[in-house]
Amino acid sequence: MLPMQGGCWLCQMPLKMPVHGLCSYCLRALPPLPPCCPRCGLPAGDPLLPCGHCLRRPPPWQRLIAVSHYCPPLSLLIARHKFSGITALSVMLARLILLSWLAVRRERGLSRPDLLLAVPLHHQRAWRRGFNQVDLLAQPLARWLGCDYRPQGLTRRRAVRVQHQLNARARKRNLRDAFQLEIPVQDRHIVLIDDVVTTGSTAAEISRLLMRAGAASVQIWCLCRTL
Ligand SMILES: [Zn+2]
Ligand SMILES: [Zn+2]
Repeated sequence: MLPMQGGCWLCQMPLKMPVHGLCSYCLRALPPLPPCCPRCGLPAGDPLLPCGHCLRRPPPWQRLIAVSHYCPPLSLLIARHKFSGITALSVMLARLILLSWLAVRRERGLSRPDLLLAVPLHHQRAWRRGFNQVDLLAQPLARWLGCDYRPQGLTRRRAVRVQHQLNARARKRNLRDAFQLEIPVQDRHIVLIDDVVTTGSTAAEISRLLMRAGAASVQIWCLCRTL
């Protein structure tokens, strides 16, 4: 399960910078995203302009940044991370998010966030597993960006049914009032971290909560967006 000491997570090649976790070949070979709408992160004709759907009904966040769509090898690494919580894997995956954000920032001049929040697990699930894998991604990101990270800033009010078993409408109902904001976020530029964004209903529910509480902006950063 573990790469050899200091090796690439995918091809096992020894790395000059073991902390990076992926060799430059495997990094370049990650499946590229097609041109995507900057707002919702779904495939669109022009990556600089919001898609037609976002023009009609914009999502409650300002930007969605993903590393890749949900497919191997990233989907396999995400599954391994979710159940193992290996620190070296967290750092490697968090770095992929950082690189994606830096690339978008270079092209389109995004502002640096001042507060990071992680999509929370219900405490029973976190307790059973012993960690929240999204929290493990947010920690190194906050350190590298030099911005505030509040692990307890968002909590789940109640256990929700496992989302991937539900259709879009049932997901929305399942999530209503599922989250609670525990800190003031007035005028803050927030990044919400998740590992996989599927329908976006969790991200939307939390973004609405943050915007209602006076947040200046919300970006969603994730490893994979299901296209
Ligand atoms: Zn490699
Ligand atoms: Zn869009």
